[in-house]
Amino acid sequence: MLPFARKLEYLGYPDLKAESVNILQVNLGWRCNQACKHCHLLAGPQRPEQMTKDTIDEIIEVVRRWSIPTVDLTGGAPELNPHYEYLVERLDQEGTHILTRCNLTILLEPGKEHLPEFFRDHRVELVCSLPYYQEDPVDRLRGAGVFQKSLEALRRLNRLGYGESPDLRLNLMYNPAGAFLPPAEGPLEEVFRRELLGRHQIRFHRLFTLLNMPIGRFKEFLKRSKIYERYMRMLVSGFNPATLAGLMCRSLLSVAWDGRLFDCDFNQALDLPLSTGLPQTIGEFDLDALGRRPIRLGDHCYGCTAGLGSSCGGKLAEG
Ligand code: SF4
Ligand code: SF4
Repeated sequence: MLPFARKLEYLGYPDLKAESVNILQVNLGWRCNQACKHCHLLAGPQRPEQMTKDTIDEIIEVVRRWSIPTVDLTGGAPELNPHYEYLVERLDQEGTHILTRCNLTILLEPGKEHLPEFFRDHRVELVCSLPYYQEDPVDRLRGAGVFQKSLEALRRLNRLGYGESPDLRLNLMYNPAGAFLPPAEGPLEEVFRRELLGRHQIRFHRLFTLLNMPIGRFKEFLKRSKIYERYMRMLVSGFNPATLAGLMCRSLLSVAWDGRLFDCDFNQALDLPLSTGLPQTIGEFDLDALGRRPIRLGDHCYGCTAGLGSSCGGKLAEG
């Protein structure tokens, strides 16, 4: 397999560089109430990693000082961090757009029932994982009973206006239930809308598609099933140069639970730090250097450029 960086070189594309830091994606910890088969992080209930309040205060200071427009909170289940509410309240005071990647079932956990109202009060945009509109594929990927719990969580959010009101954005995140590329986003969104509304009276704004990255627990599954090489070949042969302009690492910077900086959550999962010579922790943040940094690439990057492309905000190219 031609290494990803060599492929770009070979095709005549210049070094990939960031163009801005419009989004700070903050990973609040790897603890999660679920342990999904496709998780790129190996997150789960026993993971001890959690961001401390000192690191959270450093993030708030960076957002304030450099006027970062959007903070995207992820995990694990970000809401399991004991300082989640504190962070959201402080970011809201700064006028920052706040986004949370919510696995839905967390809203039904004891002690977390207040979260839907909390999200609403702070106008938190939600991106909620729902890999399919049917029970079986969801429960196979995410655990028994997850589909029904997800529906219950979505109903609670809908009752507060999420999925309908323009300032209570509720987006869903699809990922394939196996080793294949996501289908076209638009038609799939229509099927999700029809099925979820028709069968369960559930409303949402947008559906994003995300490819299963060949790392973490999904890589273990590919290896166990002896299809890792085949999956990688599919990603390599699906390389689409039209995705390069929109790669999320060009406008996003990822902050790990321990305050280290990465080009994206996937590089964080692989412990692939920023290029040498750049600030490496949130305490050293410098927008001038980080906003035009060279991106640290690896073969997993083929996962972002295959087909119509893939990112935390969905597809990257038209088609
Ligand atoms: S995929 Fe999301 S919900 Fe599932 S274990 Fe990983 S972090 Fe948790
Ligand atoms: S995995 Fe994707 S987002 Fe991360 S550095 Fe590679 S191309 Fe960029």
